[in-house]
Amino acid sequence: MSSIYLDHAATTPMVEEALIAMTAQLARIGNPSSLHTHGRATRKALEDAREIIAKEVGCLPSEVIFTASGTEANNTALKGLYWKGRDNGRNVVVISAIEHHAILDPAHWLQEHEGAEVILIPVNAEGVIDLEFLTQLVATRGDEIAVISVMHANNETGVIQPIGKVVEIAGEIPVHTDAVQSFKKIPLSFADLGVYAMSLSAHKIGGPLGIGALILRRTVEIPALLHGGGQEREIRSGTLNAPSIVGFAAAAKSRYYDSAHVKALRDSFIEGIAINVPGAVINGLQSDRLPGIINVTFPGTQSDTLLLLMDGQKISCSTGSACSAGVHEASHVLLAMGRTEATAQSSLRFSFGATSTYADCDYVVSVLPDVITKGRAANFS
Ligand code: PLP
Repeated sequence: MSSIYLDHAATTPMVEEALIAMTAQLARIGNPSSLHTHGRATRKALEDAREIIAKEVGCLPSEVIFTASGTEANNTALKGLYWKGRDNGRNVVVISAIEHHAILDPAHWLQEHEGAEVILIPVNAEGVIDLEFLTQLVATRGDEIAVISVMHANNETGVIQPIGKVVEIAGEIPVHTDAVQSFKKIPLSFADLGVYAMSLSAHKIGGPLGIGALILRRTVEIPALLHGGGQEREIRSGTLNAPSIVGFAAAAKSRYYDSAHVKALRDSFIEGIAINVPGAVINGLQSDRLPGIINVTFPGTQSDTLLLLMDGQKISCSTGSACSAGVHEASHVLLAMGRTEATAQSSLRFSFGATSTYADCDYVVSVLPDVITKGRAANFS
């Protein structure tokens, strides 16, 4: 058996259309800000790409601001909307307790360095944010809130959040959503959602690494993180990475990802686990979830040991949460869902993509019982 990749939520292979488009653009010369023929040709390729992405995400081309990653898009949105709000006497930043570190960490940075008060929206045991909490918060402290940021779908559990409802509750308060995991996996429209800002990343959809986009309402201007040449509405200066942007657009346009197929694979995998590994618990099973992500707790194990045992079987998956100085941390997402430290440290994330197969699933299910037995033995030794 060759190696099996079940970590598509971390990064997914580039689709052929993106590879071809990006390679061709790499061979072309011209800074898109230059006014000569070479520059204008690059600018044209870039603006075509911007239009494609805008169409795929349901926004205007002028609302697409290219960044170097989803992380940068999140930082730009959260810090920019906070600073804008602070100028109007608002210093509260509201985020969900299950955000990716690319929102959690800038929020805490704003608290430590920029005078923000950060309030976390709790989630229920199925990983969905508490709308009642948000309603109360907006009712009592709405005029202090600078920005609300809630992810569109969680990267560890795949649980989809009720962003439409968040926008309704927020009223005039700016809402940002991190849609990095949702884009191209489930229907997503910036205009229909009614958010102020939304983050995307190319390498989660079959595009290249190191390119993302912040979708920001045309009428909203925010302070920049990077100052310089004034590109991208003066919100994100820096020479635009035309080859990666062209690759991003080609991936966004491609129809390679078949949600129904990925979901069927995932469901057969869940069935396999239920039969072969009694006691395993799928986190967020009762919620609406992305087609390609499942998070499973294997009681009595340690995720990092399991990860290495799986790797020994040539299977790449993820613990879902971070490692700090070589020590595996309990998942903040599972802790927020009310799990104990021990439970939050005994889970694995499997994420499927367009290239995943039933044979992959069958193989993983066949080796799991042995891996779990060894994992439990290691934990109790
Ligand atoms: N937000 C979410 C939900 C993610 O899953 C990720 C990547 O794992 C990011 C943001 C960061 O995106 P990037 O890798 O482009 O910085």
